[in-house]
Amino acid sequence: MSQSSATARGLSSGLVASVDFHTMSDFQLYNSLTRTVDPFTPADGKTVRMYSCGPTVYNPAHLGNFRTFLFADLLRRALRFAGWDVRQVMNITDVDDKIIKRAAEQRTTIAQVTEPMTAVFQADREFLRIQPAESYPKATAYIPQMIALVERLIERGLAYEADDKSVYFAIDRFPGYGRLSRLDRREVRAGARVAQDEYAKENAQDFALWKAAKPEDEATGAAWDSPWGRGRPGWHLECSAMAIELLGPTLDIHCGGIDLVFPHHEDEIAQSEGATGQPFSRWWCHGAFLLTDGSKMAKRLGNVTTVQGMRDNHVSAAALRHFVFTTHYRKELNLSDDALEASINAVRRVGDFSDRIGSATGGTPELTAVAETALTGFREALFDDLNAPNAMAAMFGFITRANAEFDRRGSDLAGLARAREVFAAMNGVLDIVPDREVGDAALVGWVEERLAGRRAARARRDFTEADRIRAELLARGVAIEDGPAGTTWKVL
Ligand code: AMP
Ligand code: ZN
Repeated sequence: MSQSSATARGLSSGLVASVDFHTMSDFQLYNSLTRTVDPFTPADGKTVRMYSCGPTVYNPAHLGNFRTFLFADLLRRALRFAGWDVRQVMNITDVDDKIIKRAAEQRTTIAQVTEPMTAVFQADREFLRIQPAESYPKATAYIPQMIALVERLIERGLAYEADDKSVYFAIDRFPGYGRLSRLDRREVRAGARVAQDEYAKENAQDFALWKAAKPEDEATGAAWDSPWGRGRPGWHLECSAMAIELLGPTLDIHCGGIDLVFPHHEDEIAQSEGATGQPFSRWWCHGAFLLTDGSKMAKRLGNVTTVQGMRDNHVSAAALRHFVFTTHYRKELNLSDDALEASINAVRRVGDFSDRIGSATGGTPELTAVAETALTGFREALFDDLNAPNAMAAMFGFITRANAEFDRRGSDLAGLARAREVFAAMNGVLDIVPDREVGDAALVGWVEERLAGRRAARARRDFTEADRIRAELLARGVAIEDGPAGTTWKVL
């Protein structure tokens, strides 16, 4: 649960720990490698080592990118709900073709482009309540590891230095090449080479591990010394080197968007397994696209919506999370005003319920059974390949039934306590309780009430009370100032 929602609604995340979910073997997760839903457990039985391909930081990430990051957040929270520890690494791609192009256009360095965009990414991530990964390595901080990986591949006869002083991976010398993306062996064109980071399946060729520096690489600070002269890493190499360095040769789960299957993940497997001789990742998990008007949301199509754009339109994090979780992660999801409106209304209900259960002084004994049924349904849905729509249905069913119990105005404390635990546990995964709205009209009324109380306190010379009210206002971000024309106030 994000800090903000936990405190805003007064539901301690500590409650989650008291719910016992340690039924681990029934966690089912689709694996793109086998194309089947298989029972998942981490290799060591305790900690899930998870690598998520992160943002390329040359623009603010769009909602499509964030659909994939929210999928990783759901996966991470579901794994923790199941009782495992998670060690998640998400890389920050801060050197690649697109970043260098942007820096060259702006006659600046890649760091000047990527540093502010990394900050934007982290702020957007936090706004969306995406739990932080344990580590966010920047590619440029792992150049020595990348060079070592290339040297290893050359030693093993899987890579070669070409006339252009770049180093390429020889795909026909790695028998498993194409297994993840089910590439037809006939499409594998030995000897032909591709230098770009992104290319299509029809161009399955020897891909660049290390690229000889061009003038724009030098000009933008994207060139390093190497055994093959000045150069820079290919995008695919970055992830292999950081994953192996930070999580070891075999990951439990590697995830990203569906468009990364080829060539990015295919090439990551070739490089990593080619170098270590061990399976690179036990599970490969891919999220489907976010669409707008039926086409993929993508920067190059010019149809992107940003998190900031949503914030400007007062769409809350809770509503955006709800919207994303209305559709299973392996199905395409279309962004529309109607869908967002429905999510805004839905989370308002969750917020009202959260207030009600938070302030209730008692419930009915039946609440215990209502909570147990909801929890079972929620767990089954979540463990069924992260069926978020069904998990949300369990939570909303719980809200309806629990509301009916609260209408009976009981005084049972055990039922109330269990209902609170289960509600907190479900919300600990979905995190869809909106922050309390301080609507303008509501705020003005609330402030005026306090100011009247403070005037009365001052009139009876109760300055302790007057100061307390000033502090209460300040705690809600309202500053007051006493002047000759009376007291004025402003929102900080
Ligand atoms: P990038 O910053 O371009 O490297 O992309 C970051 C992540 O967003 C990758 O995992 C992509 O697969 C994913 N992604 C890009 N576009 C979309 C989209 N429209 N819907 C869902 N995921 C996307
Ligand atoms: Zn990657």
